[in-house]
Amino acid sequence: MLRTLAFSFFALCLAASAAETPAATATAAPAAPRITFSQCNVDGPYIAFTFDDGPHGVETPRVLKMLRDRGIHATFFCCGNCVAQYPEIAKQIVNEGHEIANHSWSHPLLTKLSTESVRDQLDRTHNVIKQTTGVTPTLMRPPYGAFTVQQRAWAHATWDYKCILWDVDSLDWQHRNPAKTESIILSQTNRGSIILCHDIHKTTIDAMPATLDALLAKGFKFVTVSELLKMHVEKLAAPKVKPTKSLTSVDGVSAVTSLEDLKKQAAPAPAKP
Ligand SMILES: [Zn+2]
Repeated sequence: MLRTLAFSFFALCLAASAAETPAATATAAPAAPRITFSQCNVDGPYIAFTFDDGPHGVETPRVLKMLRDRGIHATFFCCGNCVAQYPEIAKQIVNEGHEIANHSWSHPLLTKLSTESVRDQLDRTHNVIKQTTGVTPTLMRPPYGAFTVQQRAWAHATWDYKCILWDVDSLDWQHRNPAKTESIILSQTNRGSIILCHDIHKTTIDAMPATLDALLAKGFKFVTVSELLKMHVEKLAAPKVKPTKSLTSVDGVSAVTSLEDLKKQAAPAPAKP
């Protein structure tokens, strides 16, 4: 009886789903929310410019003025010890509408540290940002981009952090060449890009006026990383099994090909003892 009822219910669902529009049937089942991002999938020319390793006593105020002059907001992944050293600049970052986020206390390779040391690196930075600026950071970027899947899950559970990497690496720390910084960024930036720079090098900030102006001229719109994440739409995964001709995609049951399959799927799971 139960089996018959379950089958009837399933057949009913199948009929109802088959009547839906193709757009409705293409909707993916909700997946677990993503906690790591290197770029975003957005419907518009939005990008996020990020500056790591500061605040710096000279270079950060320089770039803040350049951003202010252009009405651009960026995201600053700060080291806790630099925030403690330059609290007024950290406050200025926040007061001028930029996002401030956690880049560890002293820039170690977090994958080589004990859990307690990683906790200390992130917690001290979390607290100094909060106490200095009044803002609770929601994003972290591990130094060198090195953070295990387990560490990411743990940081998310502990501080509600999303782990932010990048898809455009200016390599500014390596070549220290403003023209190269500009050309790498201009050639690699796409809608949804997260661009990595460092606001502790003079050569990086020297590259900024031309780089920012060129990106604006291309029509890009600058947002903070959190704003970019809010616009992100997860891309639908390609279906693993092609729909059959008789029963096309029906709420993810496209692999169903026969009455026997329907019966198997409709059968209730055996009761636990
Ligand atoms: Zn860094």
